[in-house]
Amino acid sequence: MSPPQKAIVLRVEKTSIHDGAGLRTVVFLKGCPLSCRWCSTPEGQADTVELGLSKHKCDECRICVDVCSEACFSTDIDGSCSLDRRECTYCLACVETCPRSAIQVYGREMTDRQVIELISRDEIFYFHSDGGVTISGGECLAQAEFVQSVLKECRTRGIDTALETSLLAPWQALALVVPHLTSLYVDIKHSDSRTHRELTGVGNERIWENLIRLDRLDQELPVVIRIPLIPGLNDSDANLRQTLERISPLKKVQSIELLPYHRLGVATYADLGREYALKDLHPPSPDYLREREDFLRAQNTAIPVTIAG
Ligand code: SF4
Ligand code: SF4
Ligand code: SF4
Repeated sequence: MSPPQKAIVLRVEKTSIHDGAGLRTVVFLKGCPLSCRWCSTPEGQADTVELGLSKHKCDECRICVDVCSEACFSTDIDGSCSLDRRECTYCLACVETCPRSAIQVYGREMTDRQVIELISRDEIFYFHSDGGVTISGGECLAQAEFVQSVLKECRTRGIDTALETSLLAPWQALALVVPHLTSLYVDIKHSDSRTHRELTGVGNERIWENLIRLDRLDQELPVVIRIPLIPGLNDSDANLRQTLERISPLKKVQSIELLPYHRLGVATYADLGREYALKDLHPPSPDYLREREDFLRAQNTAIPVTIAG
């Protein structure tokens, strides 16, 4: 038996209906080479376990100040609690003793076998709903050996497998996991590399190289392109048209989903002690989303375009 693979798992969500066909178990891994300005899972970006402090839940009891052997907690002049993560050993004593559940831990190390055991508990749902397992992130290709091991075991058991990715990874990582996939979801943030770098911290050359190389594989692999629609940042006519022009020749692309901008992760930035870059940006209206969807459909594309909901 091969030695167990390990990964930092952010969370495992059961019976999801948003990340592929049917009912799915979604395994979110930590670690991402991008830092999208709109990222709604900032707790998925670092490839390590992290602590969050929800100040609005804290009643200033100071138990954490007493329990932390590394003096990570202090109280501010106004009595509110502060967390300095630099000396944290992740002993989790504070998480376990906080009476208000104001301290959360993001991520835990798990083996492939532990994750497969969790997945296997829901096998009955997959078969009755034509669902399966989706591996997501962060950027799950950053832990490709682990992903390969989980996907391979799923396929051995006849479980449908999907992957959500930015495709920002070495081709070797993709080569490990793609043979064990039944479908692939690719997020495309911007067609222009310079703007992509401004918005996400990295250029997009490797993403497009990987997408084109994937398309040339003999393997049958339906690909869904997902475009996060961020008002004023990547939703212009020019960018959508150019993205479509680059996607249209690809044989494996089955559909395009527009992912409406939302603000669900904003509170998590505060819990992590980070600033949210798009503080003043509001989610687009349903009318505006429909207009963008119609715009793409009007570009003479054979690829179906929908708004993910
Ligand atoms: S133990 Fe929890 S509620 Fe008490 S001060 Fe610390 S964070 Fe706040
Ligand atoms: S996890 Fe342990 S070391 Fe880190 S802040 Fe909490 S009590 Fe302190
Ligand atoms: S690729 Fe996804 S997880 Fe990574 S920073 Fe962008 S939105 Fe966040």
